[in-house]
Amino acid sequence: MFVLNRTTQKLYYDDPSLTECTARVVKVDLNHVELDATVAYPEGGGQDADQGVIIIPDGREIRFVHVRKMYGNRALLADFPDIQVGGIIEHVVHDDDLPLLACLAAGMPVVVRINRLRRAQLSLSHTAAHLLYLGVAAVRPGAIAAIFGCHIRTDAARLDFSVTDRFTIDDVGQIERIANELVTRDSVVRVYPHEKFRDARYWECEGNVMPCGGTHISSTGRIGVVRISRKSLGKGKERLSVTFDNATFDPGEALGPGSFGDSP
Ligand SMILES: [Zn+2]
Repeated sequence: MFVLNRTTQKLYYDDPSLTECTARVVKVDLNHVELDATVAYPEGGGQDADQGVIIIPDGREIRFVHVRKMYGNRALLADFPDIQVGGIIEHVVHDDDLPLLACLAAGMPVVVRINRLRRAQLSLSHTAAHLLYLGVAAVRPGAIAAIFGCHIRTDAARLDFSVTDRFTIDDVGQIERIANELVTRDSVVRVYPHEKFRDARYWECEGNVMPCGGTHISSTGRIGVVRISRKSLGKGKERLSVTFDNATFDPGEALGPGSFGDSP
């Protein structure tokens, strides 16, 4: 097995409210940049990646449109689904900014800044996905083990299930009601690391604990009223989506210190 002997410092775990950091260039490739540290969350666990800019010492900005985690090592933890720890984070650069990569050199100090609104929306959407999950766990507990897909976007989140019994209109209504009750109670969301692996993380709300390495907001109330909808993906496959109204969403408020529910 290929093992890389270096790792990127994942500042999005050290302090999830950070949207900017300083770092040093480790490696520059044809279309991506590796740094020794980053605040940018890579695509993972179904959550879309952050986007942002790498600012070089002369002030020019190199946009990155995707972030990915590479060369992690399997942790083989009993309660985590096939989690990888360690590894490096690659920032994939916008095509138009590729010529600027020639300005970068290993060891050069840079600033990484992510799109705050996008991060805040993804964190809200991800938290809403957990409410959908908890609704399903209450109404159709057997469907939880049948989840085979998850996608968390800025404007919606969805879970895919391989179930032979379709979700009925009544199921969907009950799941939506449970999710909205969680919103109304404005329950506290906590995230914290596994005692041995900092990359292995838990999400907790109202005593419900589940492994999750994504980004979240610190309480359910800010999500606002959610809607759950169902779609058939063909025989034995169902999709439930959660949408929310984030038109009035304030990323400054959502990204304030402590707003991501990270335990002190
Ligand atoms: Zn999560």
